[in-house]
Amino acid sequence: MFKALLITKTDEAGYRCALSELDDAQLPASGDVTVQVDWSTLNYKDGLAITGQSPVVRSFPMVPGIDFAGTVTDSAHPRWKAGDRVILNGFGVGETHWGGLAQKARVQGDWLVALPEGLGARDAMAIGTAGYTAMLCVMALQRHWAETCVQPGSGEVLVTGANGGVGSVAIALLAALGHTVVASTGRPQESDYLKSLGAADIIDRSMLGAPGRPLQKERWIGVVDSVGSHTLANACASTRYGGAVAACGLAQGMDLPASVAPFILRGVTLYGIDSVMAPLARREAAWAQLATGLDRRKLAAITHEIGLADAIGAARDILAGQVRGRLVVNVNA
Ligand code: NDP
Repeated sequence: MFKALLITKTDEAGYRCALSELDDAQLPASGDVTVQVDWSTLNYKDGLAITGQSPVVRSFPMVPGIDFAGTVTDSAHPRWKAGDRVILNGFGVGETHWGGLAQKARVQGDWLVALPEGLGARDAMAIGTAGYTAMLCVMALQRHWAETCVQPGSGEVLVTGANGGVGSVAIALLAALGHTVVASTGRPQESDYLKSLGAADIIDRSMLGAPGRPLQKERWIGVVDSVGSHTLANACASTRYGGAVAACGLAQGMDLPASVAPFILRGVTLYGIDSVMAPLARREAAWAQLATGLDRRKLAAITHEIGLADAIGAARDILAGQVRGRLVVNVNA
């Protein structure tokens, strides 16, 4: 038997998520690796799944949790054997396939990445899908800057949704690379926290959150945007000639009320970042860079630990934008 959050949807009881005791025999048959989950996390998408606020979960009953770090206990996959330490992000886990907010998981071996040398399972999940996505955004900007010969420190880099999981990790990563980071936030009272992560300056998100002109004063050499909507449109409109924007999120909205002006008149590049189906080589590169390029003291400052049952209440908080940084879930607490 093992503990897990379980989402059910029935005509009588409606959409529910509860801490449940499950039998190993209930684990999905469509997986070739069984993992003892050591740590999981709560991401924005998990908040949507647990509350049912968006149709993230596609089949019921479902164990939510889009990521986990753990130890292989049983494997029929050629790459993995019992005792291997692994990380999982995405691939529909927690949406169409039972996920990581549980003490056990059974998944496809092809979805797993080895826990990099020097990174513990708790730290990996403190980073979680949000931090790994921040890394994918930063890697897209790094490739762009390498191609366009932009040096760290040669201009400001904007991070939106700064207090969130993606934003907090992006600030720490970019600052460690020597960039001048400007954090956009609706919580200016958290300025000291954002500066401790490496933000050089803080702007109020209201500066970016309303409809703006198609071309604005050129400011950013790069942008990590986890917010979408008007914020993303304004970020593109204020990106410097030849700069780049990495878009990964929709905390403000899924729309993009923008014009083509920044792209055709300033050569701005908009990179779409998807963590869910990212190829293995890119995942491994991202986790390797996270293992060496993220200051562990900053990671500790970003992280709050909760137990499995606490994740249900925390799901509402994350959707309300009330969570600062990352929530790591101790599935054994
Ligand atoms: P969090 O909830 O931790 O952070 C989101 C942050 O966005 C909040 O902390 C807040 O920051 C800001 N925000 C919230 N509401 C609004 C609003 N209405 N307008 C402007 N800003 C707002 O989420 P994550 O960091 O985990 O994820 C961020 C986004 O990235 C989500 O949309 C998520 O779905 C997406 N995502 C996408 C992935 C992909 O593969 N593409 C993977 C992971 C996440 P502040 O208080 O500082 O303003």
